[in-house]
Amino acid sequence: MRAALTALTDELKRLKASGVKTVVVSEESLATLHRVVQTRSKANAASTKTVAVAEAKTEVAARTTPAPDKPVARYQAPPTKFTVKPIEPANREKFPPPPAVSLPAGDKQTRWNALLQLVLNDPVCKSHVRPGKKLVLGVGNLDARIFFCGEAPGAEEEEQGEPFVGPAGQLLTRMIQGMGLKRSDVYIGNIMNWRPELQVASGGAQYGNRPPTAEEMAYCLPYLKAQIDVVNPEIIVALGSTAVQGLFGAGSFRTLGEIRSQWKLFAEKPVMVTYHPSYILRNPTNRSKRAIWEDLLKVMERASLTITDKQQNFFLEK
Ligand code: URA
Repeated sequence: MRAALTALTDELKRLKASGVKTVVVSEESLATLHRVVQTRSKANAASTKTVAVAEAKTEVAARTTPAPDKPVARYQAPPTKFTVKPIEPANREKFPPPPAVSLPAGDKQTRWNALLQLVLNDPVCKSHVRPGKKLVLGVGNLDARIFFCGEAPGAEEEEQGEPFVGPAGQLLTRMIQGMGLKRSDVYIGNIMNWRPELQVASGGAQYGNRPPTAEEMAYCLPYLKAQIDVVNPEIIVALGSTAVQGLFGAGSFRTLGEIRSQWKLFAEKPVMVTYHPSYILRNPTNRSKRAIWEDLLKVMERASLTITDKQQNFFLEK
């Protein structure tokens, strides 16, 4: 057991060193670890080496992550250690009908400002923000030609009230720069306006993220649509399976791999489906980087951006 805990600690240190600030641990996995620790202290107190935790260990190991191209939570620890369980339909919160968004006439900034006020004053959105945290609307150039759409704010995003500012966001910024653009050239939004909550002890910090439920996504969708309406981009890039589910519905595909790298249509805009940057954080191989990069090359081509030979060959195996 000591070896397993040492391996776990080493893995967490490795993730921290590589810039990952949060990892996903389901409530059940936490409870299991808690049980393990309690069992160990009891065993120590009784000076016995009885390993009563084998069952718990098996339980932890059994909670494996789905394949990388299945809907997964962000910043997950590697498979075999932790996962987030989606909320069972029976336990899901009932939401009122999605808001009907109507923006005033005016220029883009006026309309966007009005939209921000709608989101910040939306009682449902407000009720999901934990004390001291923020709701998150998109950010960027209101004249952007390219609109990146992610899933939901995480710890850093709800702290700063801005999408994609954590590790996945920093990687997204590098991807945008790889396309020869600046972050301020594009618009970045999310399906969700709040960080989907996990139960925590009252006043406690939330560790980890869970994917939003279909109901949560449906509730926030009008706010995403309104942003698309205001920005009126030429192209949308859907980052990861949750974004795709939010846009096209949960049953619209089986695995992301099935529809990745294809053009779809949402709100009459072409949508390129690709992996979420956190997929690269979990799989930092040239192969996975090249996969996303090829999708971005398609976006660049469609947007008639110049593609240099160097860009064409990014992440190709030598
Ligand atoms: N991942 C997302 O999908 N959105 C964010 O804002 C941050 C990380």
